[in-house]
Amino acid sequence: MMKKLSVIVPVYNEEKNVSLLYQSLVQVATELSNYKFEFIFVNDGSKDCSWQTLKSISADSRVIAIDFSRNFGKELALTAGVQSCSGDAAIFLDADLQHPPALIPQFVKKWENGAEIVAGIRKSTEKKSFIKHIGSKVFYELMRRFSRNVVTQNSTDFKLIDRKVINELVKFTEHNRLFRGLIEWMGFKTETIEFTASERINGTASYSLKKLINLAINSFTSFSLFPLKLAGYLGILITTISFLLLCVMLVFKFILHSNMFSAISYIIVSNTFVLGIVLIALGLIALYIGQIHAEVIGRPLYVIREKIRSVPEN
Ligand code: UDP
Ligand code: MG
Repeated sequence: MMKKLSVIVPVYNEEKNVSLLYQSLVQVATELSNYKFEFIFVNDGSKDCSWQTLKSISADSRVIAIDFSRNFGKELALTAGVQSCSGDAAIFLDADLQHPPALIPQFVKKWENGAEIVAGIRKSTEKKSFIKHIGSKVFYELMRRFSRNVVTQNSTDFKLIDRKVINELVKFTEHNRLFRGLIEWMGFKTETIEFTASERINGTASYSLKKLINLAINSFTSFSLFPLKLAGYLGILITTISFLLLCVMLVFKFILHSNMFSAISYIIVSNTFVLGIVLIALGLIALYIGQIHAEVIGRPLYVIREKIRSVPEN
């Protein structure tokens, strides 16, 4: 039987790019003629004529076009694509041709050789604004240090995932999601392909700095409790220091009978001591919130790669 590949493309204000992309996808499909194809375009509330263009290319029966009622963001557009794909593997691709479709055969080859995820890694040579550059550096560094799941630097959404991974991915119910973070969280056998992101063909990148910062904060808080625990650590530090200081001061006063410390300094130090305890309490609350957070986002408990024989039902 012929295997089927689903290409999933999120589209936000890309009227000039979708037909170009579609043409290159058609070309890839002719190249990989021993595969069936499905092109899934998710229109994420575009304000331009992207949807009209998508409707016109959907004369091709391989095209599935999905129109969101408003802009929900790329992560959810990709999710919708995954939920409606029927291929043996899915390939995610940006609509702006920054993820070269010509590389798809290489992705497919690695997949055929046994990789369950083939991840496109951006070569870091491309131009980026200074702020975006520093921002992404800081973000990846923080993620690497403080979160149990590592998000690879320069990783992109240009990925191929096997049907096994798709079946697991659709089980995630969390609303705030970083798509590539989830895919990395799952594990699976991953191969990488390096590519140079070309300049965006038409239009401007819609990920404004504000959106990027939001995405970074959301992914940080959904993968790490560090910011909350920080209060607790700070509390432990402050309590210890002020406790030691208080001891020293009491020794001076009652044993050495010295008047080196004024009355007010005792008040200040004991105040700091109490403040430290309050911060520790905050840190403890963080632990509970962490538990609640983990339950509320309802991630799957574990991810199974394959089952040889299912347990017989009673
Ligand atoms: N995109 C989307 N919804 C949005 C913003 C972007 O579906 O709210 C799509 C966009 O059409 C493109 C991809 O996500 O296919 C990447 O967007 P962009 O090129 O703006 O981001 P960057 O290249 O800076 O990562
Ligand atoms: Mg882009």
